Parts: sequence; C-alpha cells; structure tokens
Amino acid sequence: MKKVVVAGAGGFIGGHLTRALVEAGHHVRAVDIKPLTKWYQRIPGVDNLVLDLRDKENCSRALNGYEEVFNLAADMGGMGFIETHKADCMISVLINTHLLLAARDVGIRRYFYASSACVYNGEKQADPNNPGLKESDAYPALPEDGYGWEKLFSERMCRHFREDFGLVTRTARFHNVYGPFGTYAGGREKAPAAICRKLIEGELYGKKDIVIWGDGNQTRSFMFIDDCIKGVMDIMDSDIEEPVNLGSSEMVSINQLVDYVEEIAGFTLNRQYDADAPKGVRGRNSDNTFIVKCLGWEPSIPLKAGLVKTYNWIRGEMLDSREKDPRKAVFNKP
Ligand code: NAD
Repeated sequence: MKKVVVAGAGGFIGGHLTRALVEAGHHVRAVDIKPLTKWYQRIPGVDNLVLDLRDKENCSRALNGYEEVFNLAADMGGMGFIETHKADCMISVLINTHLLLAARDVGIRRYFYASSACVYNGEKQADPNNPGLKESDAYPALPEDGYGWEKLFSERMCRHFREDFGLVTRTARFHNVYGPFGTYAGGREKAPAAICRKLIEGELYGKKDIVIWGDGNQTRSFMFIDDCIKGVMDIMDSDIEEPVNLGSSEMVSINQLVDYVEEIAGFTLNRQYDADAPKGVRGRNSDNTFIVKCLGWEPSIPLKAGLVKTYNWIRGEMLDSREKDPRKAVFNKP
C-alpha cells in the first residue's frame, strides 16, 4: 500500500484513477480546484482536498506526507476549448512546475505527468492517413499552439527534475480519452462525447440535424478510459524514463465515429458540416511500438465497445437532467 496524491481528481481521468488506486489498496489524497459538488466522481475512503495547485504553497500542502504523485490537473478541454483559451491552457504550466518543486522538496518518490498527443509536430499530422506518431515525432517542436506548447515544456521540466534532482518522473502522451464520467456538454467536451450528446438530443428533443466540425474526414484514434487507467498505473510503475504514447491505434475519421454512434443509437441525423469550426490537425494516430516494447501491452478496447458504454452513460445523465427540468435541451451536467 502506497500513499498517493492524484492532482485533478475531480476531473474525468483523475476520478477514474482515484477509484482504481483505492481498489488496488492504496491510500489516496484527491486534489482539485473545483468545489466538491462539481467533482465527476467522489470515491469513499479518500482524503479530498479543494486547492488551487497553481499556488506553490498549496502544492506543498497537498503533497506533504505522501510518496507518489499523479499530475492530471490542467485547464483543458476539446478543440473548441483549447483553440479559444490558449493563455488559460498555458497557465497550467504553474501547476506542474509548482507540483514538481513541492515534490522535490517534500521527498516524493515517483511523479507521473499527463502529457498529450498535442505535443506532436503539426507538419507530421497533415495527412488523414497518418501512419501513427512515434515519440520522436515531437521534435523539431511545432506542437499545438498554447495547450501543446505547455505540455511539451512541462514534459521537459519533468525530464530535467529527473536528471538534475533525481526525482523519478514518468510521462505519458495521452491520445483522446473517452468514457463514462467525462464532460459531454458546456464547451470542454471532446468529439466522442459531443457526438453521443448530439444523437441523444435527436432522440429526446426531436433535433433532426447533427453539426460536424470540419468536413468529417479528419482522423483520430480514441482510447477508452479503462485502457488509459491501466496504462497510467503501469507506466508509473515502469522504468520508462522518456515520454511514451498512451493511445489506441484504431484510427477512424470523424464521419466513421458518427456512423458508429448512429449504429448504437439506432437512427441517423442529417449531417451538416461546419467548415469554420475548430478542427485541429488533419490526421492523428498513435504508434504503439515503444509501449509494446516496454510493457508488452497496448490499449486495445475496440472503439465500438467503448462507445456503447459511453453512449449509455451520457443518455442516462441526460434522461436524469430532463426529468429534473423538462424544458432544458442543453445541459450543464456533469
Ligand atoms: P478534466 O478537465 O476532466 O480534468 C482536469 C482537472 O484538473 C479538472 O477537474 C480541473 O478542475 C482540475 N484543475 C484545473 N486547474 C486546476 C488547478 N489550478 N488546481 C487544481 N486542479 C485543477 O480533464 P481530463 O480529461 O481528466 O484530463 C486529465 C489530464 O490528461 C490533463 O492534464 C489533460 O491535459 C490530459 N489529457 C487528457 C486527454 C483526454 O482526451 N481527456 C488527452 C490528452 C491529455
């Protein structure tokens, strides 16, 4: 049993990770800036703290007496958020920097950093038939403006704390994660949850159209949350010192993603394409050669199987919201 801090535990991945760590028998302190009522999951037996981790003193308070840290705290969201909140995304550099300083000063033994596929060079993602991004494709650096630069800088900060101060750091580059207990409305949601929500709005509120950002031919891979959590825990315990991809290599176009969700819903909507909406890169996939070599494992839960669970969870939440307020067709939950 270890004493572990999860930063960003009120969020999507942090909530699932907290649950998994508790189930594995660890003592967990969960920290987030959001008031407890807004946390996506609250796990019994956890020491919950509401703190702004941009502040160095708060970081020291959060980490004191603990052994390991998972840093999943960041001000982030899907393309609609990161393309319009570049400064906010970059300010997350304070969270990782102050957590690292506190980790060094209070003697933390292991530190995990949640990086992103947004660190990859944009010029290597111009083709929808992306063969998969290898870890070396982050350089020469041309990451996503704002959010990607912050992630790339923070990755290097982790590396230098390891090299210069001997803090054991592990870094995973997440490729789109989806699943239950994630954001599905309000502006920070990502494509899988947004598409599920739009189909369910068709069912519950009679909407006939679905708006797709871009031409729908842009490609991505999507990792189900259970694969993400297993990967995070295994990477933390591994001897992988360099940043490693943590993503599915099942690449689909956004149009295919809509096809899958329509199959689950059992009906289709009229597709409207919004060429002016944020689209991100043209093609992105995860090359999993390195993680397979290191762990003998890669994320493999099929997209369709993960989408069924995600769709059903979002539908349950939306039915619940409709019961509470039948006039509301747009939801702020969770
Ligand atoms: P999320 O937004 O659901 O969770 C992040 C949490 O961090 C939120 O609950 C937020 O309140 C908290 N936070 C923000 N600022 C904070 C502060 N100053 N102090 C304390 N807490 C603060 O996001 P998520 O999807 O769970 O992502 C977790 C991590 O994984 C993030 O670092 C994100 O950049 C990274 N990541 C996620 C994805 C994905 O597809 N979800 C992809 C790549 C990388």
